[in-house]
Amino acid sequence: MERERVYNFAAGPSTMPESALKTAAAELLNFRGSGMSVMEISHRSALFQEVFDSASEKLRKLMQVPDSHEILFLQGGATTQFAAIPMNLMEGGIADYAITGNFSAKAAEEAGKYGAVHIAANTKSGGHDRIPAQEELSFTDGAKYFYYCANNTVYGTEWQYVPETACPLVCDMSSDILSREVDVSRYGLIYAGAQKNMAPAGLTVVIVDKALAGRELPCTPKMLSYRTMIESRSMLNTPPCWCIYMLDLTLDWVLKEGGVPAMDARRRERAAMLYDYLDNSRLFKTHALPGSRSFMNVTFRTGSDETDAAFIKGAAEHGLVNLKGHKLAGGMRASIYNAMPVEGVRALIAYMKEFEVEHA
Ligand SMILES: *Cc1c(COP(=O)(O)O)cnc(C)c1O
Repeated sequence: MERERVYNFAAGPSTMPESALKTAAAELLNFRGSGMSVMEISHRSALFQEVFDSASEKLRKLMQVPDSHEILFLQGGATTQFAAIPMNLMEGGIADYAITGNFSAKAAEEAGKYGAVHIAANTKSGGHDRIPAQEELSFTDGAKYFYYCANNTVYGTEWQYVPETACPLVCDMSSDILSREVDVSRYGLIYAGAQKNMAPAGLTVVIVDKALAGRELPCTPKMLSYRTMIESRSMLNTPPCWCIYMLDLTLDWVLKEGGVPAMDARRRERAAMLYDYLDNSRLFKTHALPGSRSFMNVTFRTGSDETDAAFIKGAAEHGLVNLKGHKLAGGMRASIYNAMPVEGVRALIAYMKEFEVEHA
């Protein structure tokens, strides 16, 4: 029988667990006996508060978030945090930024409006094909924080170590959160746009050390103030209720599958299969260097734009969709987030082999 759903390799918004989508569909018209959709109930109602608390508690459990850290459910995407972070944490001083791709470059540029940005490392000259080693990072005395992006969604590189720093660590985990174990206590702030590994677009999860809240610049909008959002329990205004509900359902799935350790084992399995094939291919070449490769976004190309385009088109005809690379990187990108089944990667490799025989 034909699969009703394709294998969706999109970088974000991206594939979600089928069980979460099915539960949402089943509950869409009548949410837990209320006679209303979860989209139609008050965010201040006990019924919604249950959803909110459930998602927050599950995330705390899955990531082992210590009591020192608050979990916030915010809006404005990861990009809004590019400004919120320096407004709240920089105190008009200096911060160190490691630039390893598109989003960290944008974050550094935005931070420059609120204080002095020191570039601790920049991998641009090599086309962002690797992650700098600890010894390459240059630090500033008195930096308020060190900023990095754990997984570079566009270029397909990922930090395989946590930088050692004297100041608080701030990390964009938009595209690898919940895929690997993280010691949250080592971080001042972790944030993630939800649309890669957690929920639909519209929700940003921020996990912040409460000790760092309350230092915002006077001009900081209330909506961007961590202190205000901690005090209002993320409900200064109407939160993205639907996204929080979908996050809760996704976290149910993560828990049922065995939590973060299970996600970690699967990311290794998926990525190993794909890189192993790519490293032995006579047609496809990877962009990211071994040791820096992402487990979530695998970037590759044939070397010919025409052949790349033929591959992307042919793959789509086989139910393997959204394999086109980001316009900055070109080529192909297979995003293999938590919700991508191993069978999806197997199907992709089978098609790549077929294509290679015809085109190598
Ligand atoms: C997608 C992405 C962003 C941007 O997210 P928005 O929610 O669209 O602002 C930032 N950082 C990383 C690592 C991403 O993958």
